Amino acid sequence: MQDFLEKIRSAMSNFMYGRYGADQLGLTLLVIAIIFSFLAIPFSSYLNIVSLLLAIVAVVRLLSRNIPARRSENRAFLTFFAKPINWVRRQYKKWTNRKTKAYVRCPYCHAEFALPKGKGRLRATCPKCGEKSDHTV
Ligand SMILES: [Zn+2]
Repeated sequence: MQDFLEKIRSAMSNFMYGRYGADQLGLTLLVIAIIFSFLAIPFSSYLNIVSLLLAIVAVVRLLSRNIPARRSENRAFLTFFAKPINWVRRQYKKWTNRKTKAYVRCPYCHAEFALPKGKGRLRATCPKCGEKSDHTV
């Protein structure tokens, strides 16, 4: 049994040799395809076709041997979505630190920064512009 599993693993490894594999764009396409296929049940069968096309594109990219082209597609995808991804990460960080940190804005440059929560009135130096401002946290 162990030998059989090792043979399958080796065959998969040989098959994927020189191929691109998974990346953020491919995984996003697959997640969207799965969501569309679930949405197709109550709404429209056209979503099923879109879902299938997205899944085919994802699999074709995964098995592609043109690695530089797939890398450049993924880089363009990550660059395009960098701002919303960073925004989501910031919101997540704010949520996880909500009990220990208060997020305030600099009155001069409107940059957001964190202060320890529950310390009362604090005089803070903005990390972006260096101006001092008072905050109650
Ligand atoms: Zn500032």
